[in-house]
Amino acid sequence: MSKIIREGFAQFCKRQQAGLLVVGEIRKQEQKDKEALLDAQEKRFERKYNLFYENLDLIMRHKDEIIETPRYANIDAHYLLEGGGLYVGRLATSRQVNIAGTLITFNLKLGTLLKIWEIGQFRIACRCGETAVIRRFVGTPLSGGSSASAICPKCKMEIYVKHRSFGKYFFFASEKLNEDIEMVVKSLIAKWTIAEAEHHKKYAEGYCKDPKIANELKDDGEICDLETLLQELWQKELEEAAKA
Ligand SMILES: [Zn+2]
Repeated sequence: MSKIIREGFAQFCKRQQAGLLVVGEIRKQEQKDKEALLDAQEKRFERKYNLFYENLDLIMRHKDEIIETPRYANIDAHYLLEGGGLYVGRLATSRQVNIAGTLITFNLKLGTLLKIWEIGQFRIACRCGETAVIRRFVGTPLSGGSSASAICPKCKMEIYVKHRSFGKYFFFASEKLNEDIEMVVKSLIAKWTIAEAEHHKKYAEGYCKDPKIANELKDDGEICDLETLLQELWQKELEEAAKA
């Protein structure tokens, strides 16, 4: 049985003098550590953002292949599209939800971003003859006015785009994150259903004594990141050039 020990004020002061942290201080420390992590994360996404747009031509050349390959299509792309406006705030390209104390992060996916760029609203002709894609927009839903900036995959020129409907940018892109969230949740439910069926079968056949279904839960394997994708695409183009 546990026993509650009441600490006197003198004991408390002694404990503080000895350098032990009080509750407020340990929370402050946690906050500091979290901020340091966010800073490092921000630098990482800045590097990935630059890397992605420097190689946008390569990505666009393999657009269909990326969309059709789940390993590529599911790459996190939340930091590649920025938007926001008065009253509606920042465009959410990432959402965190707490499920039973487990934080789940849903991000806009690369395949989805490439599909957003197929819509006329998110494209503009560049002077070089190539089509540039919108990567940033701001505006207001009241007047509907907006200004956006696009980048050309070929000449890397930044193009400023005005007088397009803000709502068409904002609500269209917001809906796309919702579709990605739905896809992940449905996929998890499907995987759990398969695990359940697998488990019941093994249990009935006497192969398994463990009553927990989680043992049978299978994931999609290793996550592919942007750097791996670029490397694989470069490799592919090199091999094709060697063959030609
Ligand atoms: Zn261009």
